[in-house]
Amino acid sequence: MKLRITATVLMCLLLAASCGKQSISQKGENTMEESGQFAQRRSEMVQYQIRARDITNKKVIEAMLKVERHRFVPEDVKEYSYEDYPLPIGEGQTISQPYIVAFMTEMIAPGPEDKVLEIGTGSGYQAAILAEIVAEVFTIEINEALYRRTKALLSGMGYKNIHTICGDGFAGYPEAAPFDKIIVTAASSEVPPKLFEQLREGGKMIIPVGEGYQELLLITKLNGQMIRENVLPVRFVPLIDKNGKRY
Ligand code: SAH
Repeated sequence: MKLRITATVLMCLLLAASCGKQSISQKGENTMEESGQFAQRRSEMVQYQIRARDITNKKVIEAMLKVERHRFVPEDVKEYSYEDYPLPIGEGQTISQPYIVAFMTEMIAPGPEDKVLEIGTGSGYQAAILAEIVAEVFTIEINEALYRRTKALLSGMGYKNIHTICGDGFAGYPEAAPFDKIIVTAASSEVPPKLFEQLREGGKMIIPVGEGYQELLLITKLNGQMIRENVLPVRFVPLIDKNGKRY
């Protein structure tokens, strides 16, 4: 209980801080010193938040150990990069809690040949985790400022298998469909029909569904039918259209 209150208070402080100036290096600049200083925290994050819970997929664990989460968050919250909660990334958006990123990635059973669609690029962290494991990642972001910042960050980091797109992910990305897997990182009141359409037969999609309180749904396409499984209660920012209206 005490821990929960402390975490909530800290989140509020971080959100308040995020209303101030946000700065994030365009190239995800990373000094040797910083890299060394955060390596230990990252390995503790993986040990206590990922392995100690139910994540067992080796590729997911390796990716979480490798990707430098502190390069994806604004300067003023960098200090908290490896903590067990979401963080503000500017534009009123958040980077998900590390465990949720690992959990969603594990749930879609990512394979080395997979082409994956992500809706809600945000900081680019989830896209980078996926890009370490699968062949190709297509990621769509509706907020233009975030899109531009993250596109520069990911290409500065040298990711060649991430394709960043600015647009409304509710319609998916027919140009590159069908996708083996789809991961939606913003909550919708229903499963967007176009996304299910663009999922290949046998493919998997993970998506938070619901208003306010949401449930993470794992969807499998079998014989063209939608098999739905509730896997975890969650809280994500909403999936919105160009006018800011919630889907
Ligand atoms: N996956 C991100 C976290 C995303 S937060 C990460 O790893 O950091 C959710 C993101 O979804 C926000 O950046 C928000 O702007 C974006 N978003 C909301 N509605 C969207 C839509 N219709 N299409 C694409 N992106 C959307």
